Amino acid sequence: MIMADLSTSVRYIKGIGEKKAQAFGKLGVFSLYDLVSYFPSRYEDRTRFCPIAAAPEGEGVCIRALVADMPRLVRVRRGMELVKFRAVDESGSVDITYFNQNYIKDQLSRGDSVCFYGKIERNGSRFSMINPAYEKEDKPRGVTGCILPVYRMNAALNQRTIRDAVRQGLDECGSELPDLLPAEIRARNGLAQARYAYENIHYPSDFDALAIARRRLVFEELFVLACALGTMRAERTRESGIPMRPRDFSSFYAALPFTPTGAQKRAIEDAARDMTGGFVMNRLVQGDVGSGKTLVAAALCWLCRENGFVSAFMAPTEILAEQHFATLSGLLAPFGMRIGRLTGAMSAKEKREAKAAIAAGEYDLVIGTHALFSEDVVYSRLGLIVTDEQHRFGVRQRSALIGKGEKPHVLVMSATPIPRTLALMIYGDLDVSIIDELPPGRQKVGTFAVDESYRARLNGFIRKLVGEGRQVFVVCPKVEDDEDEETPSEKKLKSAEEHAKELAREFPELSVSCVHGRMKPKDKDAVMAAFVRGETDILVATTVIEVGVDVPNAALMIIENAERFGLSQLHQLRGRVGRGQHKSWCILVSDNKGEEVKARLSIMSKTNNGFEISEEDLRLRGPGDFFGARQHGLPEMHVADLGADTQVLKTAQEEAKALLAADPQLSLPEHSALRERIETLFKDNTDSFN
Ligand code: ADP
Ligand code: MG
Repeated sequence: MIMADLSTSVRYIKGIGEKKAQAFGKLGVFSLYDLVSYFPSRYEDRTRFCPIAAAPEGEGVCIRALVADMPRLVRVRRGMELVKFRAVDESGSVDITYFNQNYIKDQLSRGDSVCFYGKIERNGSRFSMINPAYEKEDKPRGVTGCILPVYRMNAALNQRTIRDAVRQGLDECGSELPDLLPAEIRARNGLAQARYAYENIHYPSDFDALAIARRRLVFEELFVLACALGTMRAERTRESGIPMRPRDFSSFYAALPFTPTGAQKRAIEDAARDMTGGFVMNRLVQGDVGSGKTLVAAALCWLCRENGFVSAFMAPTEILAEQHFATLSGLLAPFGMRIGRLTGAMSAKEKREAKAAIAAGEYDLVIGTHALFSEDVVYSRLGLIVTDEQHRFGVRQRSALIGKGEKPHVLVMSATPIPRTLALMIYGDLDVSIIDELPPGRQKVGTFAVDESYRARLNGFIRKLVGEGRQVFVVCPKVEDDEDEETPSEKKLKSAEEHAKELAREFPELSVSCVHGRMKPKDKDAVMAAFVRGETDILVATTVIEVGVDVPNAALMIIENAERFGLSQLHQLRGRVGRGQHKSWCILVSDNKGEEVKARLSIMSKTNNGFEISEEDLRLRGPGDFFGARQHGLPEMHVADLGADTQVLKTAQEEAKALLAADPQLSLPEHSALRERIETLFKDNTDSFN
């Protein structure tokens, strides 16, 4: 027999052939190490045994009983067969039924002593149980009297397969599991050893053991992540940076079309102090949608130019880059600033010319997408990098940008008010300014959750608002009806293309357009631009319009299948309206009556505060999903819950910091397992721009 180690493929496990190995692959499990690190998503408490007559109704319990009659097969109709029998203990009897599991008839017979786990229902004086898990007392299979791990699975794998595979994996190489935590750290924090933790996270002997195992693994996960981020980010805050001379902003403010808010001025002054203080600026500006972050960036680009340096401004999408180009040109051209553009959608010739101009120092400010930081772009005198809607860029990209100049100052702007715990993780090295004030005259966006029965009234509302000269956004969860590729639940969703046609039929007198991510950037921009100019009344879109776009005349945002969106996303979408002087509305349409969905939508109706919403979102959805497709660029957490494990997070970060202070590159031999783990951590997680 060949020897297995942690790197051995899961195919090595008995009962795992090519097909199942592929199914495991889809869950991210390739090696035995992956397998034993594939932690249960929850547990079923099967520790409680009860006499039949004393079983609480509707709760899962174990009973120990005798099969009292011969199990019989009952054909109800074609495709529906039942196995029925009665089981008794000293307290009473229970009718047991299995649906479409005919083999059970041959597994159990009268007189067998069997443990069952399931829910007992009471009907008058009769008790019944449907499809309970079972094991004969003389042939235990570990399904009753235990804490049962339940794993995330897919169609090709069932719980039993996963459980058995994990058991074998632990038996094969549990003893080889490296302890990533240095012994002193483990001792100082009272943490269990790796072997114990892995065993008990899968097969806990009791709930205390599970808690001990979990605590150790949460710590490990957060510690490894903190070490990884720590080694990635150079200690930049103390580094000396391009020193700039202070400028009086009052002449700048005086030339603006409006008066900056106090919060905007504070953010500008914070950043200006950084830039003129001799150190490299590394600042995050957080502000709710519509709080006016663009102006903050503009002021700093102006300061940079006054000092003879160039600024680069990066937006996450083409549309947004175009809009910023227009806005910033409007704000800064009066100061004689030369403003350029570089986006992926430009023709090869345009790009070549833009790059030549950048290299020659012909621009004071260049606005674009991530194309700004492709390898062949060379800047002369780059003094400031601004990235907008930062959460869309991963941790890695941030380091890549910085390599572009001689330690340029960095300003990142985020409209997603990130909960503190997460901010600590992602932006641990940034100073933070918060814009906690909206420009004057902003009105709360009236928000309502409705179901299909409101459709006619909703259409009437559209007609009324457009009649008053306003424009309407409609957001749908998918692009088009795509017969082949959809699951049944996706089929029922509104698609942007279909819905646009429907609205065009409903409102023949209005002009309806449609924009989505599958369109060519040029076409997308053309549709958006027409809407911005007020040439179309209704824009049906997917979430491509989620970030940043500014259409002050839009006063109604309708979100179809609102249940499909996370809270933060809904908040972002809602932020597209209420940006002008018009009273604005957001209507969340959903026929979903689930409790969680109702809770989510009612939070939206209650508050317009992005911070409150994001805390709720983190609480409801967990950090894995927080930014949609894990756009924050952090690896997926297996056990830790960034929303709840705050205290452990703090300790793990402190320990990581201390360790890195002593061994910055983790080059000591006793840290080699940790270093290797870190190297694989970001490997599968290469961030992509959108
Ligand atoms: P965000 O923080 O979402 O990026 P923007 O910078 O796009 O917000 O600003 C939203 C809108 O508010 C824009 O139309 C902008 O011109 C306007 N605005 C920004 N600051 C002020 C201000 N101090 N007074 C009035 N309007 C402002
Ligand atoms: Mg913005």
